Amino acid sequence: MELIAGNWKMHHGGRDSLQLVEGLLERLIAPLPGEVVVCPPATALFMVGDRVQDTPLQLGCQNLFYENGGAFTGEIAPIFAREAGVRYAIIGHSERRALFGEGPEIYRKVQAAIEAGITPILCVGEQLEEREDGRAWPVVLEQLQESLQGLPPEKLAGLAVAYEPVWAIGTGQTASPEDARYMAARIREELKAVSGLRILYGGSVKPDNVDGFMELEEIDGALVGGASLKAETFARLIYREKKG
Ligand code: PEP
Repeated sequence: MELIAGNWKMHHGGRDSLQLVEGLLERLIAPLPGEVVVCPPATALFMVGDRVQDTPLQLGCQNLFYENGGAFTGEIAPIFAREAGVRYAIIGHSERRALFGEGPEIYRKVQAAIEAGITPILCVGEQLEEREDGRAWPVVLEQLQESLQGLPPEKLAGLAVAYEPVWAIGTGQTASPEDARYMAARIREELKAVSGLRILYGGSVKPDNVDGFMELEEIDGALVGGASLKAETFARLIYREKKG
């Protein structure tokens, strides 16, 4: 089933997140074209989780730690996120890799999420120089291998992988549908033993360009940042309505 996830990054506090959810719920008439996940900041998870219960929206978080309790100041335990109603977790987003030095521990986060009953949305993607050097696929392959090490395919059933070229995130530039298709096909081939795998494209997805990605057989959904921050735009993107 198609999966559209909105990553609100550190943009909305609790009240604004709730307001955005209300705006979405006014516009989204079930049944939706697919699953729609909202990923507010951690401080809004409980409030949003309560509001989206028994609605067509699902709750996601933007990060998780790999332990479920202990002296880890500032971290988010997967079981606590689950308690707030979290079903999906964005893991290894490029902003976390670049700004917070994430990398080697990502596989532990993937594993901990799965063990807590949370579906990971694992983010992978190359930098612009890597693409220009013809290394886009080897870089993504290495990220996949590192992020999924030690996790047998049967544990990963239902995994979502978001291919997000770093240079396309928040820039207004997107991968060409052909490049996105190629990378998604390589990821699918690499993870062919994983049942129910979904591959998302992310990077400046908007209502006007979402069709170009969603119509590709290799792509099952989108991870959306900027265009998920307003109910009207996000709803248009979900329903693929180009004109407002
Ligand atoms: C993202 O944050 O994962 C993202 C894809 O952002 P944007 O849609 O703004 O490029």
